[in-house]
Amino acid sequence: MKKYIITSFFLIIVLNSIAQQRPKLVVGVVVDQMRWDYLQRYSDRYAPNGGFKRLMNKGFNCNNTMIPYTPTYTANGHATIYTGSVPSIHGITGNNWYDNKKQDYVYCTDDSAASVVGSTNMAAGKMSPVNMFTTTICDELKLATNFRSKVVGIALKDRGGILPAGHSANAAYWYDSKSGDWITSTHYMKALPGWVSTFNQKKLVDEYYKQGWNTLYPINSYTQSTPDENDYEVKVLGKGFPYTLSSVIGKNYSIVLSTPYGNTLTTQFSKATIENEQLGSDSITDFLAISYSSPDYIGHAFGPNSIEIEDTYLRLDKELAELLDYLDSKVGKDQYLMFLTSDHGAAHNPKFMKDNRIPAGNVLITKLVDSMNILLKQRFAADDLIIDIINFQVVLNLPAIAGNPKLKLNDITEWVIQYLLQQEAVSHVFAMDQLRSSTLHDTIKNRIANGYYQQRCGQIQILLKPQWLEGFEKGGTTHGLWNPYDAHIPLIWYGWKIQPGSVYRETYMTDIAPTLAALLKIQSPSGCIGQVITEITK
Ligand code: ZN
Ligand code: ZN
Repeated sequence: MKKYIITSFFLIIVLNSIAQQRPKLVVGVVVDQMRWDYLQRYSDRYAPNGGFKRLMNKGFNCNNTMIPYTPTYTANGHATIYTGSVPSIHGITGNNWYDNKKQDYVYCTDDSAASVVGSTNMAAGKMSPVNMFTTTICDELKLATNFRSKVVGIALKDRGGILPAGHSANAAYWYDSKSGDWITSTHYMKALPGWVSTFNQKKLVDEYYKQGWNTLYPINSYTQSTPDENDYEVKVLGKGFPYTLSSVIGKNYSIVLSTPYGNTLTTQFSKATIENEQLGSDSITDFLAISYSSPDYIGHAFGPNSIEIEDTYLRLDKELAELLDYLDSKVGKDQYLMFLTSDHGAAHNPKFMKDNRIPAGNVLITKLVDSMNILLKQRFAADDLIIDIINFQVVLNLPAIAGNPKLKLNDITEWVIQYLLQQEAVSHVFAMDQLRSSTLHDTIKNRIANGYYQQRCGQIQILLKPQWLEGFEKGGTTHGLWNPYDAHIPLIWYGWKIQPGSVYRETYMTDIAPTLAALLKIQSPSGCIGQVITEITK
């Protein structure tokens, strides 16, 4: 009997130590376009036991996390968070790029070999992570567990779920704005699981439309924001609060993207995924990669100083609390590891800045292409020498230049640089192969180099002055630059083995994946260049 008790005692210790080696579930939360300062800015009205304060007070906060590359867009942000790599290695140089070899435009998750699953909207399903060269931390978890871990990526935006979940994921689900349904592609499966079809049949979006969008609190209490109905916004939902949405019920499933209900739909679908796929239900670690896409749509339309954004974050606080409560009860407190971050920030609207005496402006970059091509034709007697300006890089028509013995690449490059330097919006222009000899600060040089993958980039780099934007001249805002408003992101760790704390030294988006690898005791992704944030793993 005594022997039996002692044996059982040791067995329990052994089983416990195996169980403690890794969390049951990792939940990655990316909030699309969340600036770091939103954690502080709206904190007076984040609930004491809401999502953000729970993460901030009980988690580990890396307060000074920067994106170490340009341009700061959604696709390369999500790829970098999950690969610990940079565009120059993982190959995702932007949401879209021009491929110099294929001589064509590519969307980040384009895959002509894939077909849609769960919709008749064929274009929405020709998607996979095939354009990403490296593994993600989710692939590494799969490899480390002989593919017994389950991995699912979820986001309204296809790229927000596909790139994080990686190549070997069980599923990535995204939103078909024609049907209002969650869909996937044949990269993952041949047919939607029954529970996804059942979820889609609920048509929750129509239920949300019935409720409309009014502010959570009296509108005059939104003291962090410019009064509503100003001219810094794009009126995508109508004149101002309260927004009535009942007229689009059953008709328009894309409007939901630009409302906080996009976050509600994402939370509900995430909970359904955990429930039906039984994520975190056994000792083999699973991974759920969630990205909240709606804050980006709302941010582009209304900007960081809007009541719409303030209200979106007060509501997201509740969504995150619901998700945490659900995980606590379903997977168990301290049995799951969560991190929250974002793919990039956003600038203030330039007119708002100018009205407050801060220098800013808009530039219509595509117009520059047309005017330069006309002048280049006069100067060099050749058509269309510039293909495009994309991701702040000039894509030269290299085949046309190489095929014409009268044209010299250096002459055309120099002409383009001199022309662009005369533009008010522009601070620096240089040929990419002159990056290292330019006088730029090393931080910016390194970020440009990290973003540069030859086949998928232009040959001439443009830097805008701070606070200057590409487009959005009629209201709203955007992101894409190296500056802190675009490149400073939140990063909080919470749950399994995480002690409360914070650090203000500079950490990077590329440190997330290797830190996860260290916590999970698995290999870092194949292109990882980040460092383990050792304050967390102590
Ligand atoms: Zn984004
Ligand atoms: Zn965006």
